[in-house]
Amino acid sequence: MTELKPVPTGCSDVPILKERGQREVFCGLTGIIWLHRKMQDAFFLVVGSRTCAHLLQSAAGVMIFAEPRFGTAIMEEKDLAGLADAQEELDREVARLLARRPDIRQLFLVGSCPSEVIKLDLSRAAERLSAVHGPHVQVLNFSGAGIETTFTGGEDACLAAMVPGLPASSERSLLIAGALPDVVEGQFRRLFADMGVENLQFLPEARSADAPGIGSATQVLAAQPFLGNTIAELERRGARHHAAPFAFGAEGTEAWLWAGAEAVGVSRARFEQVIAAPKARAQKAVQSVAEGVQGKSIFFFPDSQLEIPLARFLSRECGMIPIEIGAPYIHKGLVGPDLALIAAGPRLAEGQDVDRQLDRCRAARPDLTVCGLGLANPLEAEGLATKWAIELVFSPIHGFEQAADLAELFARPLRRRRMIEAVHPARVAS
Ligand code: SF4
Repeated sequence: MTELKPVPTGCSDVPILKERGQREVFCGLTGIIWLHRKMQDAFFLVVGSRTCAHLLQSAAGVMIFAEPRFGTAIMEEKDLAGLADAQEELDREVARLLARRPDIRQLFLVGSCPSEVIKLDLSRAAERLSAVHGPHVQVLNFSGAGIETTFTGGEDACLAAMVPGLPASSERSLLIAGALPDVVEGQFRRLFADMGVENLQFLPEARSADAPGIGSATQVLAAQPFLGNTIAELERRGARHHAAPFAFGAEGTEAWLWAGAEAVGVSRARFEQVIAAPKARAQKAVQSVAEGVQGKSIFFFPDSQLEIPLARFLSRECGMIPIEIGAPYIHKGLVGPDLALIAAGPRLAEGQDVDRQLDRCRAARPDLTVCGLGLANPLEAEGLATKWAIELVFSPIHGFEQAADLAELFARPLRRRRMIEAVHPARVAS
């Protein structure tokens, strides 16, 4: 087993096409859907419009199985003269909510786009409400506004808002930043425990009482590539970030786990002993799925910010050929190690000008296009196979045990397209 070496002709220094035009992405409020499931004693109060309430309800509707841990305080149709009223209304809304839900320990006021909301100072409101309802309830704020965030940017804003309030600790620990599905978190806990790592922490934890302690001996591993602000806040608290390829596929998972293990002094021999079996299983499982995608070209529209690590996995472990890798932001401090492993060739694009990108996609006619829901249907109608980027955020895709499932997420739409071609050749001959 050898450590990963950057590809000599990798994408680290490839010029990046920077686009600033119309964007086709969800806003950061979407992150509440997975964050509220993870953080069991938190509540997300969106201060927004009916549109925000509608987005949350329709995006989360199918997932509500108990009393939800999010809601919307509608702040529409208020002029400047009504601002004082709006503050009072917010205070009343929060008091009512906390009286009804004594289980809430962390309350997030989530900002949104309407100008009425932008005029409200939510950070002052959070301070004021913390003073009133503390110490049992901590009130924090972040923005999920579509004008400031893409859909994974909401999680970054939320976690970054939590960092200044985390307890101080001088103990050496490994901190994994980023909300992971429970099944994946459990696997990583077991692997690190088998390596002998005793002080393993997660941000966020399920209960705010278990919030991680931070200090100069905290070694941070980002679980997601969209956490630039969270990592910056952790570094401000003295923690040390270890950049690594993200834990997608067998190779990525090994490199990511090793970055964490090495940071807290695990020996390479112990590490290899622990990961040998799950890594071999992952390699074998990926291989069997990869046959269906080998040699197929892929085009990424900017959406989840997972695009660069996924392109690395799909090109190196599944034999796919990335044509364009678009990402909302390219944060080299986080995705640099993945970029270094992608062989030069694909165009890298940051930001979006959706019409120009659609033109490039149509001209390239990739075998598979990864994009948001709004673009998928029109592209399918033009005979292009698509994959919804949002599924990649809602599915467990990290780690050895999920490596083949991740490859399968890309193999399935190609299979579906082959079946359509077989049944209706005329419909795809455009
Ligand atoms: Fe609300 Fe803005 Fe998101 Fe629309 S884009 S749902 S107005 S935060």
